[in-house]
Amino acid sequence: LGVSFPILNCTNHLSSGKIPKSHSLSRTFQFLKPYVLSEHKAILLGWLCSAISVYSLSNIVSKVGKISATINGIDTIKLRDQGLVLGGLVIARLLASYGQQVCLWDAALNAVYKLRVHVFDSLLDRELGFFEGRDGVSSGDIAYRITAEASDVADTLYAVLNTIIPSTLQLSIMMAQMLIISPELSLISALVIPCMAFVVAFLGQELRKISKKAHLSIAALSAYLNEVLPAMVFVKANNAELCESARFKMLARIDLSQRLNKKKMKAVIPQIIQAIYFGVLSVLCVGSLLVSSGSFDGYRLISFLTSLLFLIEPIQDAGKAYNELRQGEPAVERLLDMTKFEDKVVEKPDAIDLDYVTGELKFCDVSFKYGDDMPLVLNGLNLHIGAGEIVALVGPSGGGKTTLVKLLLRLYDPISGCILIDNHDTRNIRRQSLSRHVGLVSQDVTLFSGTVAENIGYRDLATKIDMERVKNAARTANVDDFIRKLPEGYETYIGPRGSTLSGGQRQRIAIARALYQNSSILILDEATSALDSKSELLVRQALERLKKNHTVLVIAHRLETVLMAKRVFHLDNGKLEELPRSTMLSGDKDSLLSSGLVL
Ligand code: ADP
Ligand code: MG
Repeated sequence: LGVSFPILNCTNHLSSGKIPKSHSLSRTFQFLKPYVLSEHKAILLGWLCSAISVYSLSNIVSKVGKISATINGIDTIKLRDQGLVLGGLVIARLLASYGQQVCLWDAALNAVYKLRVHVFDSLLDRELGFFEGRDGVSSGDIAYRITAEASDVADTLYAVLNTIIPSTLQLSIMMAQMLIISPELSLISALVIPCMAFVVAFLGQELRKISKKAHLSIAALSAYLNEVLPAMVFVKANNAELCESARFKMLARIDLSQRLNKKKMKAVIPQIIQAIYFGVLSVLCVGSLLVSSGSFDGYRLISFLTSLLFLIEPIQDAGKAYNELRQGEPAVERLLDMTKFEDKVVEKPDAIDLDYVTGELKFCDVSFKYGDDMPLVLNGLNLHIGAGEIVALVGPSGGGKTTLVKLLLRLYDPISGCILIDNHDTRNIRRQSLSRHVGLVSQDVTLFSGTVAENIGYRDLATKIDMERVKNAARTANVDDFIRKLPEGYETYIGPRGSTLSGGQRQRIAIARALYQNSSILILDEATSALDSKSELLVRQALERLKKNHTVLVIAHRLETVLMAKRVFHLDNGKLEELPRSTMLSGDKDSLLSSGLVL
C-alpha cells in the first residue's frame, strides 16, 4: 500500500524485550489475604480429595501386590465390600473436588476484583500527564490491562492453587511410601529430577519473557482499536478502509506470531516433564536385575512401580502449574506497573478545604514546560483577575491558553512561580475543593454514555442529581428547548461520548454541566467555538447574567465574545500581554487578525 504505520512504532519495544525482575506475584498473593477462609476451605477439601485418592490407590496397590503374590486366594465377598467402599469414596471425592474448585474460584476471582479496584483507584489518582501519554501508556493498553489481563491473573491464581494444594500432599505421601518400600530405588528414580527441574526452570524464564511480548502485542492491538473505532467518520471520509485494514493486519500478525511462540514454549515444558518416565525405566531395569539376583522381592518391586506411576500425574500437574505461573507473571507485573509511576503533582497531607471563594485569581511569575527537554510553554507569566471579573484570553493556537487552564486546575504544577485563588496557593488547596470552585468547559467536550440529565448533573452522579438545577443550567446554556424536543427529554440516552448529538449541542450541554456546578470561577476554553452566531449570542447573554457573582475566564477567537470581557489578554510564545480595548474597538483588521481573532 506504500503507507506508513506510525502506530506500529509503539510496538517496536516488543523486540527489545526488557523484562524487569519483580516480585509481583507475591504482591498478587497479598490480594488473596482477605479470602483465606475460602482458601482454607479449598485446602481442606483438596486434602480430602488427595487423602481419598491416596487411600484408594494404596488399597489398589496392596491388592495388586496380594493378587500377584497369591493369585488363587481371592476373597470375593471382601472384594465386593472393598468395591462398595471405593465407590462411596469416588462420590465423596467428586463432591469434595467440586467444593474445592468453587472455593478456589471464589478466592481467585475476589482477589482479582480487589486487584482491579486497587489498580483503577490508583489510576484515578494519577496526574494528567500520565493520561496524556507522558509515560507511553495508551488508554487502549490500560483498558486491556484492567479487563483481559486481570482475567488472566484470575486463571493463573486458580490454576496454581488448584494444582499445588492436592499435588503437594499426594506427592509427599507417595514419595514417603516409595521411601519405605525401597530407599535405593527411590534414589534411582529421583536421579532425573534435578536435570528436569533445571531445564524446566530455564524454560519457565523464557516462557515469562515470551508471555510478556504476547501481552504487549495484544495491548498494541487493543490500543489501535481504541483509537480507530471512535474515528470511523474520519476513516470513511478519507476512504481509508484499505489503509486501516493493512494497519490492523500488521498488528494482528505480530500478535499471531507472539502468541504462537508462547504456545510453542508452553508445549515444551510438559514434554520435559515426561522425562520422569526415564526414572520409571531405570527402576524397572535395576529392579528386575535385583529381583532376578534374588536380593529384592517381586511383590515389593510391583508395589514400588505402582506408587511411582501414581507419582507421575501430580508431577505433571506441578509442571502445568509452573507453566501457568510463569506465563501469568507478566499480566500481574503490567497491572501493578500502573500503580508504580511517580507523580509530581501530589496533594499535600496538610492541604486545606476552601468552603467559599470569592474567585480572585493571581498568576505570579508562572513558568511551565511539559518535560525537562521540552520548550517553555509559559514564561514568567503574571496575571491578576479580580473576584467577579470577566477576562478574555486570545492568541494563536498552541500559544499556551489551555496549558494555563490546566495549571489553574492543578493538573500540572508550574516549574516556577505560583497560582493563587483568594490568596491561597493552589498547591495548598485540596484537589476536591479546587475542582468544586473552578468549573471548566473544555475545548474537547467530554460527554459520557448516559442520559442528558446524568451528563449535566455529572457532579452529583454518585449521590442525587437535582433535576431543578439541571433544568435551570440547561435554560441558561440555551439547550433546554433542544432537550425537551428529544424523544425522552432529559432522560434521553445520548450514546457513547454523546455521539448522537451535534458539536454545538454537545458544547451547550457541557456549558450546562459547568453551570450546574455553580462554581465561583468559570473557565470557557473555546467553549463556544462550535456554536452558531445565534446560540453564541444566547450563551453570551447568559454569561452576562452570570458575571455578577462569578469570575469568568473566556478563551475564544470571536471578537464579539471577547468584547464581553472588560480586559483582553493575548498569549503567544509563553508571554502574556494586555490588548488595549481601543485596538479591538477600532476594528483594525490586521492587528485583530494578528491577535488570533476571528472577525
Ligand atoms: P492553546 O490552547 O493555546 O492552543 P496549548 O496550551 O494546548 O495551546 O498548547 C501549548 C503548547 O504545549 C503547544 O505547543 C503544545 O504542543 C504543547 N502541549 C500541549 N499539551 C501537551 C502535552 N500534554 N505534552 C506535551 N506538550 C504539550
Ligand atoms: Mg487550547
